[in-house]
Amino acid sequence: MFICDCHCDTLTELYNKNASLYENEQHFDIKRQIALGGGLQFCAIYVPTEVFRYQGGLRYTLCLLDKYNQEIKKLHESGIDVLEVRTAEDAGNVLKHKAATLLAIEEGGAIDGSLEALRCLYELGVRAMTLTWSNRNDIADGINEEATGSGLTLFGKQVVAEMNRLGMLVDVSHISTAGFWSVIETSTKPIIATHSNAKSLCSHPRNLNDEQIKALAQNGGLAGITFAGQFLEEDWRNACIESVYKHIDYMLNLIGNDDHIGFGSDFDGISHPPYNIQGVQDYKPLIEYLCKYYSNETINKITHQNVINLLQKVL
Ligand SMILES: [Zn+2]
Repeated sequence: MFICDCHCDTLTELYNKNASLYENEQHFDIKRQIALGGGLQFCAIYVPTEVFRYQGGLRYTLCLLDKYNQEIKKLHESGIDVLEVRTAEDAGNVLKHKAATLLAIEEGGAIDGSLEALRCLYELGVRAMTLTWSNRNDIADGINEEATGSGLTLFGKQVVAEMNRLGMLVDVSHISTAGFWSVIETSTKPIIATHSNAKSLCSHPRNLNDEQIKALAQNGGLAGITFAGQFLEEDWRNACIESVYKHIDYMLNLIGNDDHIGFGSDFDGISHPPYNIQGVQDYKPLIEYLCKYYSNETINKITHQNVINLLQKVL
């Protein structure tokens, strides 16, 4: 079992608690990932939007990036086989490694309104960026600003174009509906919604409506099924492995193939995980459950191959 997971907020917890990426008491660590059979984990630098969406985001981003670098260095010094995915070739090689990470940013305020900063962060290894969190920034409006009906700003269009040129994955989770469509029109490469579910099954504003899910598939992109209880069930207390299955199944049927679905757990960023998914180790019962319904080929696509294919197209 090799799991590609497109979103977690573990770095925030590690930074705040001075904890270890290899072994900790959070939802995700490398030790449990390896025990599971290996995987590629997107590690997001989440920039608290209320504080940093216009100013100061870059400094905070570098603080978390430094924590990530220190932790990767420790893993390598301990002889642990962790690949940092930066190129299409790396993406093609992930299955040969015990574990892999991809550095991401959640909240475009991280670049402080500067394409120069975006390019520098790329050089430092960042390969995906969630354009907005749920509020407004200078790239676009997040889902909490839905009422404005506005798409990407002029600067936001420049950011998407530059990310396309560099080979960075554009993430539309958290963006407003109009912002989503603006990105679909603007991006010349497939995009991703790293952690969003189906709105037809659970009406949380952060989830994707049917047209958005179909557009992601047409775009060659991917939706990462997230484990946030509020995004799985109207009453988060009912969220469980079966709820995850229902969102996967709904999207597969809507799209009509199995090439555009993956996972984006949001481990260490969710307050209400499903009652039978308490961390990365619980991918095991989840995948066992899914195996009752899908072929090995579909399971392989959902667990890792779709994400690998996307990264090979974009990086
Ligand atoms: Zn998020």
